[in-house]
Amino acid sequence: MMICEFCEGVTRSRNVKRQHWMNKKLYIVENVQAEVCTECGERYFHAKTLDAVDEYLSKKHSVEKRISVEIVRFVPATA
Ligand SMILES: [Zn+2]
Repeated sequence: MMICEFCEGVTRSRNVKRQHWMNKKLYIVENVQAEVCTECGERYFHAKTLDAVDEYLSKKHSVEKRISVEIVRFVPATA
């Protein structure tokens, strides 16, 4: 358990889905351990966990699904 840096709420250990960049590639990785703030939902990942994800992805691994992603430059509406 940790105290949230933003709202001082307490965190709970949970397995979450994470957007993870490695070698300029984006992965959506499910089942990653995080501390999640029970108040604001902010997520904290241990460096050790992120290193383990990097290592997992750099080796042969199974792929659940592939999706395509739009990269968009947001243009706000003029008031
Ligand atoms: Zn918080």
